[in-house]
Amino acid sequence: MRSYKIGVIKGDGIGPEIIDEAIKVLDAVSVSEGFNLKYEEMLLGGSAIDETGVPLPDETIQGVKKCDAVLFGSIGGPKWDNLERHLRPESGLLGLRKEMGTFANLRPAMVYDELVNASSLKPAVIKGVDIMVVRELTGGIYFGQPREYDADKSYNTMVYTREEVQRIAVVAFDIAMKRDKRICSVDKANVLEVSQFWREIVEEVAKDYPEVELTHMYVDNAAMQLIRDPKQFDVILTGNIFGDILSDAASMLSGSIGLLPSASTGKGVGLFEPIHGSAPDIAGQGIANPLATISSASMMLRYALGEDTTANKIDDAIKKALAEGYRTGDLGNYDAKEMVTCSEMGDIVADYASR
Ligand code: NAD
Repeated sequence: MRSYKIGVIKGDGIGPEIIDEAIKVLDAVSVSEGFNLKYEEMLLGGSAIDETGVPLPDETIQGVKKCDAVLFGSIGGPKWDNLERHLRPESGLLGLRKEMGTFANLRPAMVYDELVNASSLKPAVIKGVDIMVVRELTGGIYFGQPREYDADKSYNTMVYTREEVQRIAVVAFDIAMKRDKRICSVDKANVLEVSQFWREIVEEVAKDYPEVELTHMYVDNAAMQLIRDPKQFDVILTGNIFGDILSDAASMLSGSIGLLPSASTGKGVGLFEPIHGSAPDIAGQGIANPLATISSASMMLRYALGEDTTANKIDDAIKKALAEGYRTGDLGNYDAKEMVTCSEMGDIVADYASR
């Protein structure tokens, strides 16, 4: 039997509740699919501060490197908001991503048929949307040197190296090969030299993937097209700042923040987490939507462990739960047959996935 070691970071707020449901689903499917998951819990964020005094303990840094993948809930909350910036939960997460060298951020934005009415856009525009945003995460203007803040003049620098563009392009093309084989690379090549460079390198990488159709789009147009006709996109490949903005816009097509997963991958171990935060306003009430985290577990199986069949089973189970009308509170009453708790939603998905 195949065996994998999974680092589990529950974190703060609703983190422990939603991670428990994802593990429930993984346990329901793994053994019957011929593999075994061993979990190792690690601390990060507020809970790490409470126990060890720092948001990113050394044991976590060392621990994640020995895992096949890391499943993460969420961190943060008002209890730790007044600490100095480098001691706050969020700095622990940024530090962890840096330590793990995760340069690719994958953010799917899909619209479940059963929830088309939950979106702020018209059903005809969003029904069938299934986009994967591949965002470069460790380069570009957020990290470029020189950078300066000064009273009279401030600046940042958008820099990309050949290697940085090549490796993120390869990630996007590999993903496109598993999907509809279409990539739209988004840049600002009409104005920025760094974008012209980006475009040339993406074109070079495309030569190794003759089956994938590559198009280019300026970022301002892409923002408009995401709202006008999101169905035209399959994979969107883009740099750090453009991806930050576009992936948030794309995620809202689906209607609820409680539905969408994400993956941060790189050369080593990948980090899989819901896109939402720790939701302190509903923590401990058992009403959080666990589907984004269950979906993140599915991404982990697909992109870190290569267990695509099981990932498909989990994705289908989520769709079935929604099709049968089960809804957590955040989804409102859109075509709901029964309102369920976080734990009940986990039971239902686990049951469907293991049939
Ligand atoms: P949030 O995503 O935690 O919550 C925004 C709203 O969405 C809240 O009303 C919340 O109840 C709701 N919500 C979020 N996830 C939900 C779910 N699964 N089910 C149902 N409802 C859900 O964002 P915020 O309120 O801006 O931040 C709260 C804390 O989370 C802050 O400390 C912030 O720094 C932290 N945060 C952490 C991460 C992370 O861990 N990756 C990401 C974003 C924010």
